Amino acid sequence: FFYPLPANEPVLGYAPGSKEKELLQKAIQEMKAHKADIPMYIGSEEVKTGKTVSLHPPHEHHHVLGHFHTGNTAHFNKAIDAALAARKAWAELSWANRANIFLKAADLLATKYRYQVNAATMLGQSKNAYQAEIDSACELIDFLRFNVHYLGEIYRQQPISSPGVHNRLEFRPLEGFVVAITPFNFTAIAGNLPSAPALCGNVVVWKPSDTQVLAAWWVMKVFKEAGLPDGVINLVYGDGPEFGNAVFAHRDFAGVHFTGSTRTFNHIWKTIGENVAGYRTYPRIVGETGGKDFVLVHKSAHADAVVTGLARGAFEYQGQKCSAASRAYIPSNLAPEIKAGLQKALQSMKMGTVEDFGNFINAVIDERSFDKIAGYIDKAKNDPAARIIAGGTYDKTAGYFIEPTVIETSDPRFVTMCEEIFGPVLTLYVYEADAFEQAMDLVDNTSPYALTGAVFAQDRAAVERATHRLSHSAGNFYINDKPTGAVVGQQPFGGARASGTNDKAGSALNLYRWLSARTIKENY
Ligand code: GLU
Repeated sequence: FFYPLPANEPVLGYAPGSKEKELLQKAIQEMKAHKADIPMYIGSEEVKTGKTVSLHPPHEHHHVLGHFHTGNTAHFNKAIDAALAARKAWAELSWANRANIFLKAADLLATKYRYQVNAATMLGQSKNAYQAEIDSACELIDFLRFNVHYLGEIYRQQPISSPGVHNRLEFRPLEGFVVAITPFNFTAIAGNLPSAPALCGNVVVWKPSDTQVLAAWWVMKVFKEAGLPDGVINLVYGDGPEFGNAVFAHRDFAGVHFTGSTRTFNHIWKTIGENVAGYRTYPRIVGETGGKDFVLVHKSAHADAVVTGLARGAFEYQGQKCSAASRAYIPSNLAPEIKAGLQKALQSMKMGTVEDFGNFINAVIDERSFDKIAGYIDKAKNDPAARIIAGGTYDKTAGYFIEPTVIETSDPRFVTMCEEIFGPVLTLYVYEADAFEQAMDLVDNTSPYALTGAVFAQDRAAVERATHRLSHSAGNFYINDKPTGAVVGQQPFGGARASGTNDKAGSALNLYRWLSARTIKENY
């Protein structure tokens, strides 16, 4: 079975007066009115423990969307047992049948459930309609379809044989179960992290972030309706460290597919290291973690393109993308025009709830995040090396709203140039226009991360030089574009250094990690 390269799922526009806008609004209203009672999925059971956590839209935190039932060590162990019990039948199912389940899930997402999954993302994660559409609908549909294509290509790769000898590679799933841990910010990542290993024949225990449970639950329902057998993906919620202690101590733990903070990933890696002698097999550790993504502008750049790139790259989804532009190096010749352009662009960004489709900026995910981001803005307000040139206000009375904020600093190592903020805060440093080499040195050694980055230049030699000099500063390197918005099948995504293991989501490189090949030689 070979699935040809698919096309990317077309993005719906939700234009005023359109049918699709009406349907999405209806889904939002229904979801707001209906209080979801969200179970865990363990084997064939929908588990309700009675120990619940309530869900609130970040932009309207007094409203209750519903609640989910959390598990403890006993539930996590049950999920592992359910996964292991499903393992043999799942691995033995023909690859075409495994693929068809996820292709059907993609079609269900594209049609029947598109509005619900988007509505869940909008309400649960405070993401506007356009961002939800590209992230939760289109990107997840693409992940599912492209992964089927790439896995078909991998299976076709076979060694050569010779007269009297036949050689082949058998791409087995890993021997054990895979753990998927997913972040709040992308519903597509929520769907991809468990489904990519499962497509390869693995069984999975999946724990989403507490602030993503609503959308994760809808994705799980889609997988089930598409025919995913019980136990192949088990969805649990609960305390992160308690979950980690259960899954990473198990003899049959075979891999982790993680997106989240560098700190948590380091902790996971250490826990796995401590337990390594007890595993049946060396586990695969795949993680996409933090970023401190840069925009480097050369003196030959088009200022307009820089302004658009920064405004969108830094502030879409309130800067809560791992890929968001958060530090920019601006040459002195273009600084006045770029700063003025950014101030103007920010004035036109409306902020408010997701229900008003005219709002570009919504709320940040929760109070902890709000306080942390506000703390960084305060640091800039109180330090003579920095000043706020746009935005700078915040208010959590009704929702966790932080105005898109631009800081300018005279210190290239000011704290907001170095640390990941994960919010709508961009810091600019103006360098002397001829000091491009020094600016590149700063880009490369100011932060431990290397996820995304962008260079803006019209001068070909500068593009060439930056591409070469910054070869390890970003896993996704953009030339004359914003550093966000990687599209499956077009820009495989991931970074190295403190940003992760760079196993490019949405490509064959990722799928290889969920396969363990056996070489078979036969003489005849
Ligand atoms: N793939 C997303 C992008 O290119 C970012 C994913 C993330 O935030 O983890 O913008």
